[in-house]
Amino acid sequence: TRQAIVAANWKMNGSLALIDEMVSGLKDVKLNHNVDVVVCPSTPYLAAFAQTAKHEGLSESFHLGAQNVSEHEKGAYTGEVSTAMLQEVGTKYVILGHSERRRLYKETSTQVAHKVKAALEVGLKPILCIGESEAERATGQTQVVLFAQLQPVIDEIGIEKFKEVVIAYEPVWAIGTGKTASPAMAQETHEFIRQFLANADVEVAKKVPLLYGGSVNAANCEELFAQADIDGGLIGGASLKVDEFKVICSAA
Ligand code: 13P
Repeated sequence: TRQAIVAANWKMNGSLALIDEMVSGLKDVKLNHNVDVVVCPSTPYLAAFAQTAKHEGLSESFHLGAQNVSEHEKGAYTGEVSTAMLQEVGTKYVILGHSERRRLYKETSTQVAHKVKAALEVGLKPILCIGESEAERATGQTQVVLFAQLQPVIDEIGIEKFKEVVIAYEPVWAIGTGKTASPAMAQETHEFIRQFLANADVEVAKKVPLLYGGSVNAANCEELFAQADIDGGLIGGASLKVDEFKVICSAA
């Protein structure tokens, strides 16, 4: 069976106080076996989260994730953070190609592919975000858009290495809007993504965890996670509320 994952994308929210609150809250959360929980706070908080988690004795099922990383190894890239830096402070996962980065910071699928490669080279697990906009879905382009976001990554790293990648399908119209994709619609798209991977390699397709993201909350998570090709979630707003996030973790 596939690894299930619930990942918290705090985006540009949170504080040292929320880290303390979250770590204490997560200590007694009941997880099903095979579930990893990943918390992705902003960069300045990564080291603090790692230290607090260690100090409080959070179990091995909990991991630290970053929200972005540079595709470059090191050098004159003011404001950027390298894969080695993330690793040194205890980061295990990194969200890449989030729709906010693609839209607001003009990250291209080629650049995202380079970031995936850089992450894998140091053993960081990429959470590769893909998803269509409302207009793209309305005009029947969903599959074309997902193809265009996935193929450059396969071209860059090769399908063999893709088994180390986690995919988060986040329809842009469902992010922060309260408009969740229905479980059936999400499943249909996840099935398409898995089939797309299977066309390249059946065994890899079976292994890659596919997370759903976009207005996941305590009330809708169970039905979403029950779908055959949904292996967990990437949670935005609801991951900032400790009690609600715990419910979502337990549902995976
Ligand atoms: P919301 O859960 O706030 O809709 O955000 C989803 C998301 O973008 C997670 O990466």
